[in-house]
Amino acid sequence: MKKQVQSSQRSESWTVLRLIRWTTKYLTEKGVKKARLDAEVLLADLLGLTRVDLYLNYDRPLIPSELAAFKERVRRRAVFEPVAYITGHKEFYSLDLKVTPEVLIPRPETELLVEEALKIAQKRLTETEDSEMEPFRVVDLGTGSGAIAITLACHLQQAVIWALDISKSALNVARSNAEQHDLNARINFMQGDLLDPLKDQIDCFDLIAANLPYVPWSAFDGMDPDVKDFEPRLALDGGEDGLDLIKKAIAQAAPLLKSKGALLLEIWPTQVSRIREAGEAFGYGQVNVCKDLAGHYRLAILMKNNPGG
Ligand code: GLN
Repeated sequence: MKKQVQSSQRSESWTVLRLIRWTTKYLTEKGVKKARLDAEVLLADLLGLTRVDLYLNYDRPLIPSELAAFKERVRRRAVFEPVAYITGHKEFYSLDLKVTPEVLIPRPETELLVEEALKIAQKRLTETEDSEMEPFRVVDLGTGSGAIAITLACHLQQAVIWALDISKSALNVARSNAEQHDLNARINFMQGDLLDPLKDQIDCFDLIAANLPYVPWSAFDGMDPDVKDFEPRLALDGGEDGLDLIKKAIAQAAPLLKSKGALLLEIWPTQVSRIREAGEAFGYGQVNVCKDLAGHYRLAILMKNNPGG
């Protein structure tokens, strides 16, 4: 009896703040890089609070069932399981997306791709006379969680989107995200190898956007365990130089794009010159590249025809 009283007193004293401090120290000792942030995200999500709410609830004690569930989350994070797989969701371009270990976790770098795709789309749509207005046709190649397809559908009311992936289980996640945001009526999901499912749609698409696997083999050793031990190899491994799928996509996309169409590719920073070469070889008029917030080349934009000439 005495023991029970003592243990409940102990658990009562685990307040939000004490738990965040303890977890931060513990995860740091295990080698987790952003331990404080992770501790806060895992706890806020468990308690159904925002991170700001946590600060307003520092003295809130956790009940034993919450404490047990949190302990399990911390145990998973301590062996480098990504936070988003533990909570089951991730914010991307201000939308909340479900993620499972079958899909790559959407990254801030990919928001750059979405931003540039939206700029191109908006420019094209303002240049086009209303009378010529057809649906703006967009492909998200290798959709994974559906991040690109869903954010583009959300911000481009005129767009019809095709979301392709070779993985059935990834497509199920993407479909459920589209339903969640009520965008499934404008997104066609198709399973297949790269652009094969659309190979007869010559001259049809305004934009083809792709975050394909592009990591070169030599880079795997240096990757964080969170990525290389937990995220799907199918979504990361681009072959020896990382360009196996990207090069095929450059070749396949050329005939499918309209004359003013563009192919947007997320890339590994060292691939720029080889992507330029492939772009030239397959008759694209212009290849532009953009850097991510870390200053690395992360996006290649291949315009089908040279807009300047
Ligand atoms: N940006 C991812 C990483 O570096 C790779 C994503 C990809 O291969 N498409 O972890």
